[in-house]
Amino acid sequence: MEKTQKQAYEPPEALKSILSQVLAGRRFRLECGHHITFLGGNLANDLTIRNGSAEDLKVICAQCGY
Ligand SMILES: [Zn+2]
Repeated sequence: MEKTQKQAYEPPEALKSILSQVLAGRRFRLECGHHITFLGGNLANDLTIRNGSAEDLKVICAQCGY
């Protein structure tokens, strides 16, 4: 990986900030059929996001992610 590419990556805090702003207090049905809840940090399931490409994200729970 070239140095310029590496510097373009945002820190994990940026991703966490985006996720917490968008997900806080919401509940979702995942593609695997399980559910996930973002209420006060108490997750029913862990979340797995498979990104084959940005247009083809697969959002499933961690148990189904293995
Ligand atoms: Zn699942």
